[in-house]
Formats: sequence, structure tokens, C-alpha cells
Amino acid sequence: MPDLSEDFRLPVGCPNCSSHRMRVSQVHNPDDKVFCASCNTHVCLYHEAQEIIRKGAGSESEALLEEAANRQR
Ligand SMILES: [Zn+2]
Repeated sequence: MPDLSEDFRLPVGCPNCSSHRMRVSQVHNPDDKVFCASCNTHVCLYHEAQEIIRKGAGSESEALLEEAANRQR
């Protein structure tokens, strides 16, 4: 079974462990779940991650990720 996920870096850290390394399936559907590569928390969806990458580091991105992470709970 091939590993169909890949890691990428988010400009803001995981709300749970502050790691910037995230994992997503290689399919890259907008609705794919993005997980923290270090603590495995489901942090956001792929389209939200793309939005955060586009905005870059900053309070706006932190707020976006926080909001997304809260919604997953
Ligand atoms: Zn984490």
C-alpha cells in the first residue's frame, strides 16, 4: 500500500502542539482533511490551508486556523 499523503509547511503552527508540519493526501481535494504531522490533530481542510499559505504568517492566518480547528471538534 503506497503512502498517499505528503507533508507541507504551514505559516502558522498547529493549535495543539505548534508544529508547522502538516500532512494531507496527495489528491489535494479542497475538502481533504489536513492533519498535524507531529500530533495528528485534524487542524483544517485543504482549501483552508491554501488560504492560510496565501495569507502567510500573521494574526489573520492564526485566526483562520483557530477557527477551522475549533470547527473540527
Ligand atoms: Zn500538532
